[in-house]
Amino acid sequence: MRSAVVVGAGIGGLAAAGALARTGWEVTLLERGDRLRGDSAALLIWPNGVRALRAMDLSGGLNAIASPAPSRGIRRPSGQWMVQPDDAVERDADASVVVHREDLHDTLVAGLGDKIDIRTGVQVRAVRCEPGEQPSVSDGRSTWQADFVVAADGLDSVVRRRLVPESSVVAAGCAAWRAVIPWYRAPKLPADGAGTGGETLGAGHRFRYALLGEPGSAGVSGRGGVYWAATVPGASRPEPPATQLSLLRRWFAGWHAPIGDLLAATEPDDLIQHPVAELRPLPRAFSFPAGPGGFVLLGDAAHAMSPHLSQGACLALEDAATLRVLLKDAIPGRTLQGALDAYSRARRPRLARILRQSRRVGAVYSANGTLAVRARDAALGLTPNRLLGRASDTVRQWRPPA
Ligand SMILES: Cc1cc2nc3c(=O)[nH]c(=O)nc-3n(C[C@H](O)[C@H](O)[C@H](O)COP(=O)(O)OP(=O)(O)OC[C@H]3O[C@@H](n4cnc5c(N)ncnc54)[C@H](O)[C@@H]3O)c2cc1C
Repeated sequence: MRSAVVVGAGIGGLAAAGALARTGWEVTLLERGDRLRGDSAALLIWPNGVRALRAMDLSGGLNAIASPAPSRGIRRPSGQWMVQPDDAVERDADASVVVHREDLHDTLVAGLGDKIDIRTGVQVRAVRCEPGEQPSVSDGRSTWQADFVVAADGLDSVVRRRLVPESSVVAAGCAAWRAVIPWYRAPKLPADGAGTGGETLGAGHRFRYALLGEPGSAGVSGRGGVYWAATVPGASRPEPPATQLSLLRRWFAGWHAPIGDLLAATEPDDLIQHPVAELRPLPRAFSFPAGPGGFVLLGDAAHAMSPHLSQGACLALEDAATLRVLLKDAIPGRTLQGALDAYSRARRPRLARILRQSRRVGAVYSANGTLAVRARDAALGLTPNRLLGRASDTVRQWRPPA
């Protein structure tokens, strides 16, 4: 039987493992955590991510957990619109949605079926990639060999470090926090357009929020509430969460409603701080031959980027959906090697383009200093599509390969 090892059970690894198992691969999934779980924040899933989930037959699960994403539009801290919301885009068939990360994890875990060999508490430490040998990984005690290995072990991927030592993780110059406030202690939301969520940009500071389910309800899955994400310039903060929360309240003091109320309703335990970093340079390839197949890099392990486009998970889902199509009928040996090479050729140019766009959007968002912010706000107000639209369109228009 054709065999695969998937390292890492994040969104990318779970999606790839399930997709491969459903097309006849014997899959072993290795995860360093003691169980399979997502964190307690939320995610925006853009149309490309929705299409990828549909291509992997997971859209039924998505429908059960998704809430509509807020319409696109950007405000100033005063509440004045800088970029008017674009409702037309959000009404199309593949409209963006917002989901609780734990719900998405549960959906992907349900998609694994009962044939996958799941090993938790396994931290891969060694990688063997030799032309004449089956690819293998090891945690120092046991070794797992297969026709090919999917490296979905995230930003600090051990597998990528072995295969592409020249790519390093570089801090993106900002710190990011996320939280979900359950409905029972969420503040009352304004009745104007800001009530459904949205995005606000200040001098290098950015705040977004979205609703998980109907206000006051338990949410579609019982994990409903108000999701928010904030980005500020500088490095990650080492202080305890209660101090980080005080800092966030001070940085966003005076911003339009309900931002202050959301931060006031957040408790230290709700707060998740994330390292914001990207890979430089982008790996030269996303596949590496070994034995009858080789290794592929997927998700943040292949193309971690700063979250300015909010696309990392969607791109990991695209990777998994692409692998599924290309590997469906691949036989270990020449056709598998060809399929892994085709994966790299299909994915890398797109990711190189998106990474450039993400940096450009990051520069727009991080404008700091009075003059730079004024120039940025004026340009965004006049020609948002020139600054942001093209990036967003390239990303959103993806279709799975036939
Ligand atoms: C603030 C912020 C907001 C974001 N918002 C969005 C958004 O709205 N929409 C969106 O699409 N994306 C968003 N992203 C990006 C998204 O969170 C990531 O790109 C995505 O989670 C990457 O998934 P992954 O499966 O590739 O990696 P990960 O989620 O990092 O999963 C890697 C898995 O591998 C395991 N692992 C690691 N090393 C080993 C090892 N040696 N052995 C075994 N297991 C290992 C880990 O425990 C983990 O389970 C955001 C990111 C940030 C920081």
